[in-house]
Amino acid sequence: MYNHVGTFRLAGSTALRSSGQICLSIFPDTLKTFTWKSLFVSLSVAFLAGAATCAIWRAGLIDSVQAGFVVNVDQGEAPLQSPQTWIGLLLIVAISTSAGFFVSRAGARRSFLILGLGFLATAAASLITSRYLKIDILFAPMAIGATGAVFLVQLHRLWLIDTLLTEHLNHTSARTDTAESLAQNRLTSGLKLLQTILPLEEAVVFELDEIGALVPCARLRSNPSGALEPGRNTVWRRLIELCDQAVETSDMAQAPTGQIDSLESVAIPLRHEGRTVGALLLRLRERFDQSDRRLLSAVGAQVARNLQREEARKRKLNGSLPAFVSARTSSHRLNAFDVISGVLTENRFGAHVLAEAADGYAIAYLDGTLGFVNPAMLWSARMNESEVQKVDLFGLLDRFRAGVFDEPSIAVRRVLQSGEPYQCELNFPDRNQTLELRIALATEDQGNGSNGNGAGASPLCFAIRVRNITQTKEFEQLKSDMISLMSHELRTPLTSINGFAELLMLDDKIPEESREFLQIITNESQRMSRMIDTFLSVTQLERADKKEVTKIALRLDEVVREVLSTLQPVAKKKRIRLIELPSGQIPPVAADKSLITQVLTRLLENAIKYSPERTAVNVSTVLEAEAVRIVVEDHGYGVPAESIDRIWEKFYRVARDGQEKDEESTGLGLAFVKEVVEQHDGSVTVESEVGRGSQFSFALPRL
Ligand code: ADP
Repeated sequence: MYNHVGTFRLAGSTALRSSGQICLSIFPDTLKTFTWKSLFVSLSVAFLAGAATCAIWRAGLIDSVQAGFVVNVDQGEAPLQSPQTWIGLLLIVAISTSAGFFVSRAGARRSFLILGLGFLATAAASLITSRYLKIDILFAPMAIGATGAVFLVQLHRLWLIDTLLTEHLNHTSARTDTAESLAQNRLTSGLKLLQTILPLEEAVVFELDEIGALVPCARLRSNPSGALEPGRNTVWRRLIELCDQAVETSDMAQAPTGQIDSLESVAIPLRHEGRTVGALLLRLRERFDQSDRRLLSAVGAQVARNLQREEARKRKLNGSLPAFVSARTSSHRLNAFDVISGVLTENRFGAHVLAEAADGYAIAYLDGTLGFVNPAMLWSARMNESEVQKVDLFGLLDRFRAGVFDEPSIAVRRVLQSGEPYQCELNFPDRNQTLELRIALATEDQGNGSNGNGAGASPLCFAIRVRNITQTKEFEQLKSDMISLMSHELRTPLTSINGFAELLMLDDKIPEESREFLQIITNESQRMSRMIDTFLSVTQLERADKKEVTKIALRLDEVVREVLSTLQPVAKKKRIRLIELPSGQIPPVAADKSLITQVLTRLLENAIKYSPERTAVNVSTVLEAEAVRIVVEDHGYGVPAESIDRIWEKFYRVARDGQEKDEESTGLGLAFVKEVVEQHDGSVTVESEVGRGSQFSFALPRL
């Protein structure tokens, strides 16, 4: 039923995978009991039953039974005639084998009527032939042989099914299996969780062993030195008694402070699927608050599931013949079932978690049936619970028809065919809402590619997500408004400030002191202009579509030469040598010349800026397998290791000891470089060592 938390319906052979849990499958194809081998075995056991009956008959052990199915001859009449011995033997074996064959093919229930009728008819025939024809048709040995054969064949069939069942249980519980350390971790983390809400001194998880005695299997102490020693002291024994009491009554048992020792003790039975699998003992520094009872029993249920899992992991199921008749193995099978049911319980949690999500989520099986719809999805689709129950995947998607998404079935087909998610923005001007819809195929990794193509992922179901992005869109609008404000409202006055300051400086009457102030105004306004320019170019690039970059065939070595000659004067001021290292034949790349020139300029400016005087900066153009790379190498200050991953971020500047904050630094240069290179499907790299220098490079795909 669709309730307020949404619903998981487990349909067909698939349960939903949640938080790494199992995906339970019933394997209809492997649940076949017929094989040529099993037929051969059935015929053999039926034949053996017949042969054994022959032996008993020849030994005269069933003569008295046989006498019951023939009419006694009167005195003076001719004696009853039996068939020749070899015919008799043949008859018994043939009838037994046929009965066995019949049961092995038709099954015991269907054979029951036919074999029963045959039995009655042959019994009647035996009486009639013995009465009127004076012939004994050997009914009793035939009936005993056939019954024995039917019994043995049916036993063999049951054993086969039982073996399969055990195999499947092994298989399924192996998929839920957790490593020993993980199972222990789960138990201890459960105890740690309790420690956050209770004044715990010590907590112990006990499991029930084979003979029903409580054995500790996990414990947590807040103070290791004051721990109890199991089995030694009387306190421990009394605590065990308390746990025993909890197990027997299936209810929480409490021993207030002073009853056992100075701590308050609480024992909780660990119950799973109606069975008690252990007990949880809590030793509290303060009085136990009764309002924690419910929470405690819920945590107890989780610990019980973990115990059950641990128990099943320890005991491996056995599928051999003795196991078939072993009560112990059957109880292990019951354990395995409990583990699976525990996992199913935990899988249901996924639905409850998704119900809390702010985004709308729906799950549709591959037949289009909706398996789960969360409240946020109901809200986005403007449907109520009873309405959504009547629709399928398409009915739900119909509620989102808008703009590009006017044919949901096309989107679904595309997802099914390509396996790629479909995503689009839906605009609903009437409700002033923008939604982002995503339809994806949830897949299960099959490991080494069971579908033959190596991909190894088989589709499970559709995952539909609807996100309300109205607010994000509003923020984007705000950002774009801010950008236009920066570009016009700030840049224009700055140009005036700079222009007038420069104009004033031309005036000879201005005293030297004021001229200095004017110089500062000019420098600062220019710096601010540059910052705004860089910021605008980064944001504009971020918003730009890749297609908007005008790419032409560009020779990067030529760009290097041009930029180097432009920057030579700047480098000379710091007595830095800009050197172009020789490169071979370099193929062109597809790029926007102006942007790439800016990228290289910024890298070289940085190299000059962050290097001491009288050093060299090397630039090389390198041809790689699929790309052309430009490397800018300096012998400057270098970037500390902790900053290296962050220098591409917007506004990030490296703080250097003893170095004054660089006035020119904006922290936007490298962000711009990265953005441009990625717009060209290229990549950037940096290697650096403090005090030795840095190597910045970018690669663009070659033509
Ligand atoms: P800006 O140079 O405007 O501060 P960038 O984004 O270009 O901004 O650089 C970010 C930071 O990376 C700078 O603060 C600088 O410390 C560091 N950096 C950039 N290039 C180099 C380099 N060649 N050598 C050392 N540090 C560098």
